[in-house]
Amino acid sequence: MGEFELIATYFKRDVKRAALGVGDDCALLAPAPGMQLAVSSDMLVEGRHFLATVAPERLGHKALAVNLSDLAACGAKPLAFTLALALPRADAAFLEGFSRGLFALADAHGCELVGGDTTQGPLNICITVFGEVLPGQALLRSGARAGDELYVSGTLGDARLALEVFRGTVSLAGDAFDAVLCAMEQPQPRIALGLALRGVASSAIDVSDGLAGDLSHILQRSGVGATLDVDKLPRSEVLRAQPLALQRLCTLAGGDDYELLFSAAPSRAAQVRAAAARAGVPVTRIGRIDAEASLRLHDAQGRAVSNQFDSFDHFRS
Ligand code: ADP
Ligand code: MG
Repeated sequence: MGEFELIATYFKRDVKRAALGVGDDCALLAPAPGMQLAVSSDMLVEGRHFLATVAPERLGHKALAVNLSDLAACGAKPLAFTLALALPRADAAFLEGFSRGLFALADAHGCELVGGDTTQGPLNICITVFGEVLPGQALLRSGARAGDELYVSGTLGDARLALEVFRGTVSLAGDAFDAVLCAMEQPQPRIALGLALRGVASSAIDVSDGLAGDLSHILQRSGVGATLDVDKLPRSEVLRAQPLALQRLCTLAGGDDYELLFSAAPSRAAQVRAAAARAGVPVTRIGRIDAEASLRLHDAQGRAVSNQFDSFDHFRS
């Protein structure tokens, strides 16, 4: 199978919303008049972002999910994406599974593949997503204000717990392992929640590198601080069965959660609950934004917890 046969077989599909899809030098997008384009890229490298053992279908899902998660964090509606792919070889079984997982998620969010690039090389997947948002409505990291409440969607830490199983520091089997593996390999981008939070949340970010580190991005961009109750962080039954120190590591510094972390004024609390209900995603209040800079952690008894929860940094770890 050659390069063009590969593209035609696995990645060329008719487009419905874009003006032109795969097959020409450029794709042509047709965002609705007056809308801003929201654009984001994320690269996945074998050994860094995924393990060689991952099923191709799950890898296809995850490669797009981490990108859609960025659109969710901005409150943008998905339109289209491009796929730049380096493959060691043209392996039909891999491509069949990968494209199936990729398109299943793409179809679920009405996001069309409109182009890309394909080369031979170590497995590497780079997706760029395009979404649309009304001018002035995008959720940003910079809008948190002292007195706002802090919320997070879903649960945190399961993906990190799965990674610890692969590292051999934790042992889990059966349904418990399947559940955390699913969290690691098949994150669900919170698109519906991001859309529902437009005009409600004052700031937002998706949690990809660990809650404490990603929150610090909001705090820095907004020029504020925060206080978090670490015992309020939502976590699965599987994670709750682990030692407390591990629960805290996974929820605060886990990474790969792809939940939305956001702030909203206290007067918006009912709207936050309504947005969560509309999106069908649980949302938990975990703390508040303060005028005083930096992040303070405490437990359910109000005792200070030291913040040693650095987020993932590619050039420090
Ligand atoms: P060019 O040489 O102009 O960069 P290519 O020969 O690389 O174009 O690609 C041919 C067409 O196939 C282009 O429309 C490109 O966008 C598309 N394409 C290449 N690889 C992929 C891919 N992995 N997924 C989707 N479209 C792709
Ligand atoms: Mg090319």
